[in-house]
Amino acid sequence: MITPNFKKFNIEPYKPGKSKVKNLKKVIKLSANESALGMSSKAKRIISNKNQNLDKYPDGKSRNLRKAISKVYKCNSEKIICGAGSDEVIQMICQLFLNPKDEVVIPEYSFLMYRIYSKIVGAKVVLARESNFRVSVKEILKKITKKTKVVFIANPNNPTGTYLTKKELLNLRKILNKKILLVIDDAYAEYMKNKDYSSGLDLFKNKNNVFILRTFSKIFGLASLRVGWGYGSKKIVDALNMIKPPFNINGVAQLAAIESLKDKKFINKSVRHNLFYAKKIKKFLETYNIFSNSVSANFLLLNFEKCRYSANYLNEKLKKKGIILRSTEDGYHIKNKLRLTIGSKKENFKFMNVIKQVLKK
Ligand SMILES: *Cc1c(COP(=O)(O)O)cnc(C)c1O
Repeated sequence: MITPNFKKFNIEPYKPGKSKVKNLKKVIKLSANESALGMSSKAKRIISNKNQNLDKYPDGKSRNLRKAISKVYKCNSEKIICGAGSDEVIQMICQLFLNPKDEVVIPEYSFLMYRIYSKIVGAKVVLARESNFRVSVKEILKKITKKTKVVFIANPNNPTGTYLTKKELLNLRKILNKKILLVIDDAYAEYMKNKDYSSGLDLFKNKNNVFILRTFSKIFGLASLRVGWGYGSKKIVDALNMIKPPFNINGVAQLAAIESLKDKKFINKSVRHNLFYAKKIKKFLETYNIFSNSVSANFLLLNFEKCRYSANYLNEKLKKKGIILRSTEDGYHIKNKLRLTIGSKKENFKFMNVIKQVLKK
């Protein structure tokens, strides 16, 4: 029987952080940068409410959610577009801006979805070198040509955990050709307490040639509900609305996102929890000569160069004990490193205890 022909893509499909270990029922998943404390009890209440109108279509424009976002982040609700995860917003941006043969500049160890969606619409992905796993503005500028349409930056970046300072970001926008769209992915912005950091949203709220990505998957703990948003010029957002799938965010997710925004106390607690354990674990691992980036978001990129054991060795040992980290070889091609998500108190202590057992000094 004939299968009709379909397009062939030259892409490495996205491999998410693993969530299972063979023969183990209970695992500790520290592989996908999800929230250590889960979601706010206010959001949980929405989800467990049995009396929802799930037989009716949701609001395709996510009006109430956009209103709630605009209040909390002090921005214009008309310039917000919601997506099924920021993932979908990245996809729509690629569909809107990129023709086949257009070029997209992406730092070499950037979050993978930018290159995947760019390639799907036929654009050419140009990788800009990084220096010591940190985005280099100079290297990005070197890669710009007449065909460059979009530059993507995750700030801080996943999986490296490094970030461009406020000054560097402003400088990049200043030097970069005004016709090129700069996309700044603020996925971890809420976690960032570093003094030299400013979120893309805070810096570029009023810039027509910057587009910001935000998500409810990280600090808000709604990863499975798939809610994210983009922020940009009214013109861009109006155009995105023309290509947006009509009911892209389900009704429960819209309501849960609105409730999660209200729980400032819980968010602050999550931020404090993360900072405390990120610092603690970083210090702890240093005693085993496992070093990492300075604390930024809710994960650490662990470097095994100076350690007696390799990243793969430790990864296997941890896996046998039911603790899953993210290999950075898959997709990112970063050798001898592992990405560790900061977990709950119990998970973090279990992780440190297993390290003690495995790497006996
Ligand atoms: C986790 C993450 C996202 C969030 O993706 P969603 O589709 O919103 O779940 C976006 N960008 C980066 C850099 C991330 O690490």
